[in-house]
Parts: sequence; C-alpha cells; structure tokens
Amino acid sequence: MTTPSLLILPGDGIGPEVMAEVRKIIDWMGAKRGLVFDVSEDLVGGAAYDKHGTPLHDDTMAKAQEVDAVLLGAVGGPKYDVLDFSVKPERGLLRLRKEMDLYANLRPAQCFDALSDFSSLKKEVVAGLDIMIIRELTSGVYFGEPRGIKKEGNERVGINTQRYTESEIARVARSAFEMARKRGNKVCSMEKANVMESGILWRDVVQEIHDAEYPDVELSHMYADAGAMQLTRWPKQFDVIVTDNLFGDLLSDLAAMLTGSLGMLPSASLGAPMANGRPKALYEPVHGSAPDIAGQGKANPIACILSFAMALRYSFDMGEEADRVEKAVEKVLADGVRTADLMGPEGGVPVSTSGMGDAIVAALDASL
Ligand code: NAD
Repeated sequence: MTTPSLLILPGDGIGPEVMAEVRKIIDWMGAKRGLVFDVSEDLVGGAAYDKHGTPLHDDTMAKAQEVDAVLLGAVGGPKYDVLDFSVKPERGLLRLRKEMDLYANLRPAQCFDALSDFSSLKKEVVAGLDIMIIRELTSGVYFGEPRGIKKEGNERVGINTQRYTESEIARVARSAFEMARKRGNKVCSMEKANVMESGILWRDVVQEIHDAEYPDVELSHMYADAGAMQLTRWPKQFDVIVTDNLFGDLLSDLAAMLTGSLGMLPSASLGAPMANGRPKALYEPVHGSAPDIAGQGKANPIACILSFAMALRYSFDMGEEADRVEKAVEKVLADGVRTADLMGPEGGVPVSTSGMGDAIVAALDASL
C-alpha cells in the first residue's frame, strides 16, 4: 500500500497554532499506531500573499491536486482587508475548492455530552445529537449566470441566478446516500419545490437516484424553511440532510451552532474519486483566523483536530482511528479540560491551545 499523502496549509491567524496541535496527533499516529503519512506543508491565504504576491501559488495548487487530502487551518486577517478582491486571502481557499471541484460540503453537527449546556436549546433537545449536513458547494445561486447589478430605467437591479443541472444534483445526492449507508441510513432532502423550478428538479432527481440506486436508504423531502424549523424544534429526527448551496449555507450554520462553540466545528469538502478511488478532499475547521486571539495561545484546536479525524475517515479509510481521535476529544471534555471559548459561567482555569493538544494526546495514549 502506498503511504497516504497529506498537504497541510496552516494559513493565517490561529491557523498555524491549531495546526501545530494536529501535527501532534499525526506524530502520535506514526509512533503509536504505525500509521505513517507523507506530510508536506505549504502556504495559503495572507501568508502566501506575503511571500508570493498571490493567496495560492500555482505550485501549491498543483500539489493539492496530487495529494490524497488537504488540511487547511484558516485564512484572512485585518492586515489583508485593504488588498484588491482578486488577491484577498479568501481567494486562495475559493481557488482550491473550485479547481479541485469539491461539490459536496460535509458539515457534521455533533453534540458532545460534556458541552450540551452550551447550546442555546434545551439540553434534552441536543444531548447526543449527531447529524450530517451535505451542502452542494460548486453550483447554484452563488455561481449561476446571469448575475450582476444592472441599470433598468431609473433604478439598479441586483441579479443572481439559481441554476442546477441534473448531473450536479445527482452527484451530491449520491454523496448523501453513500454517507447515510455508513450512518443511520436516512436522508432528508431540502429545497423549495413549492416556489422554485430548480427545487422541483432537485426533488425529482434526488428521488430518481434513490429509486434506481439506493432504495434501501430511507428518503424524505422537506421544504428548506420547514427544515430550519424542524432543526431547531427536534434536530435528532435527522441523520443526513442534503441541500443546495444557498440553503446549505444557512442550514449548516444553524445546525452547527446547536452544538456550541465555533472552536469545535470541523468540515470536509469532497469531490469526484481520483484514480486511487479516494475522493478529492479538503478538510478545514469552520472557524476563521480569529485575529482577536491569534498568537495568544487561546485558540481551541479541536475543530482542526476533528477535521483531521474526518480525513482519517473519509480519505484514508481509517474509521477506527477517526473514532479513536473523536473519543479522545470526548474524554478530555468529559474530564473538564477547556480552552477559554468553552468556559461556562461556573468559571475555572482554561488550558492553552497546546495544553488542549497535549490532553488529547494523553487521552489517545490512554486508549491503547
Ligand atoms: P472567526 O471564526 O475568525 O472568529 C469569530 C469569533 O470566534 C472570534 O471571536 C474568535 O476569537 C472566535 N473563534 C474562532 N475560532 C476559534 C477557536 N478555534 N478557538 C477559540 N475561539 C475561536 O470569524 P471572523 O472574526 O468573522 O473572521 C476573522 C477572519 O477570518 C476574517 O479575515 C475572515 O475573512 C476570515 N475567515 C476565514 C475563514 C476560513 O478560512 N475558512 C472562515 C471565516 C472567516
């Protein structure tokens, strides 16, 4: 078997700080589990702009296309706000997503028992929550043409176009059904088929793919606005939710925040299978570069560590090791280890970014 390859792009702000803790987990996997990764590291975002005058160098882009998985920290910061739109740090991330054609964005919303008090919802509504939102990421209203701001008579008109082809819907639907088979075997597809033609097509294609290829998976359809209500009313009714780019943007943020802090949320963006059968893949925490706490050892590295756990599961077929990392995170939280963002009203002394990483490594040791 060839050594699995991983490109690490720490980026800006707290990106390098949280990535240093992921490195500890990767080293642990090599030393204690004999799982060695071919790890390379490069620049993205403001860090790449500072060195190369572009937020993503062509060589880095080429490397990202070759490796089995990319793990990114975060990009951006006030220093770069003045830059032209074309070289802003975020453009580096968008280029990666676009050129790797990462059409399925996986956003788990999982509530760790020890943090169930953190949710704005009642504890019994979120305790044990484990759902996966799959958002279509490369098409829909954020990309459709025509778009722009035009003059019509005496006033300006803002135009965006929601456009989906059958094949775009079919491939993300397949991602959802495949995911459901590995979880609770249930998919809920969300759109607005009551008022949008693209929603009618979405519903039809998802149903057709289901009937032809995944009849064993339980499928339901829901209007996206009703879905938002159901997510806050009783989120545990869902297993996998699949939806378009716009609704997915909103619903995945809503679902994620049911579970507490931004410092806890991982994500994966997957594309088509490569020659080796692995999907093109980019893993990243949901949070940004947090310039307000950068360089102070306050960042919570768990979102980035859980993103690596997703890479273990979805790129490297190491589900057992992914479980091990997730259980280690659960254990340190149950033991009361907290970074500053996880401190409740009862107070206490927070650990630093590296303190949290060390605690997770110790929990991994204890798992052997
Ligand atoms: P942010 O996610 O960086 O921070 C929002 C708040 O959450 C801040 O108070 C921050 O301290 C806190 N926070 C975030 N991550 C944390 C962590 N791991 N541990 C503890 N606290 C954490 O969002 P923002 O402030 O809106 O944006 C800051 C910069 O990040 C901007 O330049 C923005 O463009 C960029 N950004 C990048 C990404 C990305 O790289 N994917 C995503 C969002 C924002």
